Amino acid sequence: MATTETPAKTASKYEPVIGLEVHVQLLTKTKAFCACSTAFGAPPNSQVCPVCLGMPGALPVLNRQLVEFAVLASLALNCRVNETSIFARKNYFYPDLPKGYQISQYDKPLAEHGYIEIPASGGGTKRIGITRLHVEEDAGKSLHDGLPGTESATLVDLNRSGTPLIEIVSEPDISTPDEAYEYLTRLKEIILYTGVSDCNMEEGSLRCDANVSIRPIGQKEFGTKAEVKNVNSFRFIKAALEYEIVRQEELIESGGKVVQETRLYNSNEGKTYSMRSKERAHDYRYFPEPDLLPLVVDSKWKDEIAKTLPELPEARRKRMIADYQLSEQDAYTLTMTKAMADAFEGVAKTTKNPKRLANIIQTELISRLRANDLELEQSPVTMAGAAMSADLAEAGTISSKMLKELYDHAFEQKVDFPVIYEKEKPQQISDTGELEKIADEVIAANPKQVEQYRAGKKTVIAFFVGSVMKATKGKANPAMVNEILTKKLEG
Ligand SMILES: [Zn+2]
Repeated sequence: MATTETPAKTASKYEPVIGLEVHVQLLTKTKAFCACSTAFGAPPNSQVCPVCLGMPGALPVLNRQLVEFAVLASLALNCRVNETSIFARKNYFYPDLPKGYQISQYDKPLAEHGYIEIPASGGGTKRIGITRLHVEEDAGKSLHDGLPGTESATLVDLNRSGTPLIEIVSEPDISTPDEAYEYLTRLKEIILYTGVSDCNMEEGSLRCDANVSIRPIGQKEFGTKAEVKNVNSFRFIKAALEYEIVRQEELIESGGKVVQETRLYNSNEGKTYSMRSKERAHDYRYFPEPDLLPLVVDSKWKDEIAKTLPELPEARRKRMIADYQLSEQDAYTLTMTKAMADAFEGVAKTTKNPKRLANIIQTELISRLRANDLELEQSPVTMAGAAMSADLAEAGTISSKMLKELYDHAFEQKVDFPVIYEKEKPQQISDTGELEKIADEVIAANPKQVEQYRAGKKTVIAFFVGSVMKATKGKANPAMVNEILTKKLEG
């Protein structure tokens, strides 16, 4: 039998169906229905009040900023915002849920019918539908370890209780773990651009649950799905889905049946494990929240919010390619975060060659940020510094070798480019006499290449420039070297 690199995939007679539910914590200063702070990391139970503690008789008051952020996110995700939406109680018992219910939205969510476009595997784009975007409050946190007392008990911290969330539910349009990864990457990018959340997965500001089932190719009905919960990175979600698809295939092929259940992903083992059966999934017994009026977002308010919508990543990429003659790859890298795109555009208009700046940012700046585990905001070299380096390189004042060395020094000494340039100003040889002497030596030592050049193969000049640069340990001014060599070879 002929083998291929991924025999399991090509041979499968099943296709996966994946749906994602993403919870995003909104960056409001106060909670959804009370004035308690939402700041992360405060001592346990220091940010609570009768409302978020679920005391009898306490009444919720809706946070206006929460609505504005949720509407902004809805618009950015191409959703239709419903003029009237209804808050509902989602009833269940859990130790970190003192009220015994979460305020959420059910049959009348804030927004519906959105989509995100992701790159399709065969080129072009694929549209992944968003069923709904609704608003809800978070529960508290159960602390099982790491604190005094947790060796014998579980502690409850209610600081998070009542923190505002949006839940974004995708259509089951996702067909592969790679598409799930792309969808999540785009979703996070878009939300970050709107500024309504920091999407920090470590602090739980972005959480993802994935529903996955398989069905024989060609079959319309969905198979029984399993839900993989609380995976804390996109890479792990992809890995969990890959594992789960194979597990379900093997189960069905061996005559078994997939049961509807919640499964947890163990990233150390790369496996999912059954957590609880979900047969009683419909027992939340939602009903309209009697303490809150219907939420009305009229067109006037919606339009006001829409005015604050920034240019979104996809549109920005297209514009930047046109404005600065960038490649798609350049534009993609530079728009990965809004901060990066803003910083680049802040200097691109005044720099001599924005394309060169884009290259330097990718080859010199981003690579070093990654190696040092730094964010752009923590970079010793600012965007203005990068622009200066690009201009110097463009003018031929510094060679690419020097450029690299200067960036190395800037990162080692944690100073910006202008500072390091002033300090280490390359001992560049700009003495014409000295360079002419070296040029003569190089020409004399390579008669064959001289012959080629004079026979019309002008590209050989690069060989000579390179040889002079080598002889001067990269310290010659490349523009001058080029000029001198051309003169000599032509003459
Ligand atoms: Zn409170």
